[in-house]
Amino acid sequence: MQDYHLRQRDYLLEISRAMTSRLDLPSLLELTLRSAVELLRGQAGLIVLRGRDGVMRVRASYGLPTGLLRFFQPLWDDLPGLWDLQVPLSRWTIPDLQMRLGMVAAAAGLALSQVVALPLTIEERLIGVIYILRTTGVAFSASDRMLLAAFADQAAIAVRNAELYQQVDEERRALSAIIENSAEGIMILDAQGRVLVFNRALARITGWDPEEALGHPATEVLMLRDRQGRPIPLPQPEPKRTSAAEVRAYVEGDVVRRGGPVLTVGVTATPLYDEEGTLARTILNVVDITRFRQAEELKSTFVSVISHELKTPVALIKGYAETLRREDATWDRETVQESLKVIAEEADHLTNLIDSLLEASRIQAGGLKLEPTDVNLPRLAEKIVDRFRTQTQIHTFELDFPPDFPLVWGDPERLREVLTNLISNAVKYSPDGGTVWVGGRADQTGVTVYVADQGIGIPPEEQSRIFDRFHRVETGLHRRTEGAGLGLYLVKAIVEAHGGRVWVESAPGRGSIFMFTLPKK
Ligand code: ADP
Repeated sequence: MQDYHLRQRDYLLEISRAMTSRLDLPSLLELTLRSAVELLRGQAGLIVLRGRDGVMRVRASYGLPTGLLRFFQPLWDDLPGLWDLQVPLSRWTIPDLQMRLGMVAAAAGLALSQVVALPLTIEERLIGVIYILRTTGVAFSASDRMLLAAFADQAAIAVRNAELYQQVDEERRALSAIIENSAEGIMILDAQGRVLVFNRALARITGWDPEEALGHPATEVLMLRDRQGRPIPLPQPEPKRTSAAEVRAYVEGDVVRRGGPVLTVGVTATPLYDEEGTLARTILNVVDITRFRQAEELKSTFVSVISHELKTPVALIKGYAETLRREDATWDRETVQESLKVIAEEADHLTNLIDSLLEASRIQAGGLKLEPTDVNLPRLAEKIVDRFRTQTQIHTFELDFPPDFPLVWGDPERLREVLTNLISNAVKYSPDGGTVWVGGRADQTGVTVYVADQGIGIPPEEQSRIFDRFHRVETGLHRRTEGAGLGLYLVKAIVEAHGGRVWVESAPGRGSIFMFTLPKK
């Protein structure tokens, strides 16, 4: 007996050594089973575990041909009551175990005659069974069961460890999938501020390859500048936990990156402290806030442009009205007429501006509605041009439509707006006068209409941006000319609502040609 205990101790020592050397679960179970079979002078053995689905499966076998394992099912069949642990563990047995073995032996054609079985448990939870089998007739004794109990415990611990490891591994993988696929940029730093984890969104934001970024200081891969180009430091958590240290730090700035448009980001730093309160990791969340920034800027541009645009006519109206009101002066009829004309014109100007604003906000809300009908564009152009002729002495106007120019299908009011805006710009931006041409051509797909001037022209880099809301060219004469930067935005929206497109060809000092297409009816 003494001898058995010594050998049991040796076996168990070997198993726990194997466990600490992190052998995988199948090898650990096999080692445990083999040791138990040898110690108990058995010839074969099995470890059966219950899977997450509740199904029992053989996870280790010893001394049995694999092909015959399926015959052993009766040994653990129909044990639901036992799994619910309605009996105390100490009295746990499998009913009719010897008889079950008889069935198995007959079916498998094996000379097995004795069996002992013990439960594997984790924290009072039954997770499987270990069986030792003998071919000889010598029955297992109570002390055999006691010896086996230690092995059952070892096997249960191995399973428990494997479960924990698997759980940790699954959580780790779920976490890295979340980090990797997050739309937010995420970077995890070690205590020295070097990159340990760098996700895809951050690669897009910074232009750094994730592989390349690993190991670099965070300050190298994510550099921020303010609007004036001054560097902004990344938020830096306290190296030691203090009561206030876990408050998250936040900064905003433009990303300095390799090519691509400017991106504005918000960076939040969250520190993770170890048990001693020393900084272990820093998590940086990087959110692309470019669009919010742009919207904010657009809003402030809006306020400054609009207030300027509103002030000028209001000042004129007020000036003329006050002059006319003066009681110490009398005005001849002509002066009165002239002044009232200016007041009326400026009032019209205000109305137009307000209409444009309303229309721009309607378009932005997606509410541009067309009321289409047949439109005679050459006639429309002629009417508009006639009005402009009365307003300027230094410009001449030429219409250039072929006689067979077709009717187009469109909203006449909106198309009038398009032509009016283009012609008014042509006049406005040719301060030295010159000719303004309005013409069109038709082909199989539709019509192309143009408005050309001999004015100041538009620098190439501005040509795609002048169609943006509130965008104005900010140089020389452009700046001195009044405007809210809404006209071309409306033109583009209207033309596109008709299914056409608009563009410009121009060179500074050489005039501009604005062109738009309308598809065939
Ligand atoms: P604005 O009210 O400022 O004229 P628009 O949207 O009509 O607004 O035009 C946007 C900008 O495009 C103008 O500020 C001007 O700089 C430029 N632009 C438009 N039309 C012409 C043109 N015919 N010649 C030169 N520059 C032009």
